[in-house]
Amino acid sequence: MSVDFWQNDLETLDRQSLEALQLELLKSSVDQALQAPFYKNRLKKTGICSGQDIKSLDDLKRIPFTTKDDLRESYPRGMLAVDQEQVVRMHASSGTTGKPTVIYHTIKDIDVWADLVARCVLASGAGKNDVFQNMISYGLFTGGLGFHYGAERVGMMIIPSGTGNTARQIKLMQDFSSTVLHATPSYMLHVNAKLIENKIDPKSLALKKAYLGAEPYSENTRKKIEKMFDIDIYNSYGMSELNGPGVGFECVHKCGMHIWEDCYILEVIDPDTGENLKEGEQGEMVFTPLRRQATPLLRYRSRDLTSIIPEPCACGRTGRRIARITGRSDDMLIVSGVNVFPSQIEEVLMKIPEVGTNYQIYLENKGALEKMVVKVEIYSKLFEGSAAALDKLKAKIREEIKAQVVLNPLIELHEPGSLPVYELKSKRVVDNRIKL
Ligand code: ADP
Ligand code: ZN
Repeated sequence: MSVDFWQNDLETLDRQSLEALQLELLKSSVDQALQAPFYKNRLKKTGICSGQDIKSLDDLKRIPFTTKDDLRESYPRGMLAVDQEQVVRMHASSGTTGKPTVIYHTIKDIDVWADLVARCVLASGAGKNDVFQNMISYGLFTGGLGFHYGAERVGMMIIPSGTGNTARQIKLMQDFSSTVLHATPSYMLHVNAKLIENKIDPKSLALKKAYLGAEPYSENTRKKIEKMFDIDIYNSYGMSELNGPGVGFECVHKCGMHIWEDCYILEVIDPDTGENLKEGEQGEMVFTPLRRQATPLLRYRSRDLTSIIPEPCACGRTGRRIARITGRSDDMLIVSGVNVFPSQIEEVLMKIPEVGTNYQIYLENKGALEKMVVKVEIYSKLFEGSAAALDKLKAKIREEIKAQVVLNPLIELHEPGSLPVYELKSKRVVDNRIKL
């Protein structure tokens, strides 16, 4: 399989050269961070007065973590490390878990970011002959513009359709023969449902690939969507604090997301103790962006949980890969004392063939008694069958979930299109529990 690289030298650096480069860039990132009021203050207690105080990558541990709360508290300009006249853009996170955070960019920041996204496009085997339909929101959210600039740099023809208006999205796909889509996995499932509803065979479109990210999804969801459309799905990871898309991306081997380690130092820590974990161990990712001017961040706690896959990848890229993200450290549900991630439920649901394209988890309680209700859309024709068959299906779903997470949920079966649809990030859990 012939694979092109966007920045061959940087993408294939051997470990030793990579770490030497990281050290140099870390020193300059510390210098840059010291230009921001927040870090000037934060680093006072550490004895780090300039980048030259960093002698090895191990010295990174002397720097305290930066958290989302730090960013919020520094709102609006506490993290800004350049003069206002150098700033060309700002973005803000979508605020899934609270008040948004702001990241500023210089021309150089945007330039580096576009290169990282261009690397992702080529890593997936796409290129300038592709028609790229960007079904992700343009605006303060980083997904739309972030991917747009990288795709344009590669020379793809971009359809900047943004989110929503599914009928129009489908028409654009048909009329302009889109070959690559960018969307959230939940929206991609919704597009499939709409195609079926309109009696359009998803496999009849010109599509070859889709980049799905912005929210967790399981390997079974990937397989399900790949089969529905007969395309390849590539997992895409990013967050606005780290620019947006273009932090981690899968290559044609689809076996974990390469991190562009010449631009980000990645650590995985135990979220409770803050201790560094070994490769392969599951924990929270901590990132230090290495080439940022306007909003440098040092040891930023992502709250996203996964592990590093240390084995080299057949594509030749040397940036280590991360496994699928199981959720955020604050996503974990505790139901009747059992720890469960919504992604575990999804993993089970998406391998059951009768299950359609949408589901939602409701949590309720009666006093101390907690209950999980899983609402699942199933294909319409199943409702034409007997009540006994539906009961059997419910029991099957319940048993499979029980085997995975030890909880005994109530299962509700719904018609396609009856559960809420989200164009960007989906809300999978509705917690109606009254705190005692
Ligand atoms: P917010 O934090 O407000 O949701 P962002 O838009 O920056 O704002 O979202 C970034 C978050 O989205 C990540 O921290 C992660 O939790 C989630 N995310 C992004 N891409 C993926 C992915 N491929 N798999 C799982 N989760 C993802
Ligand atoms: Zn690879």
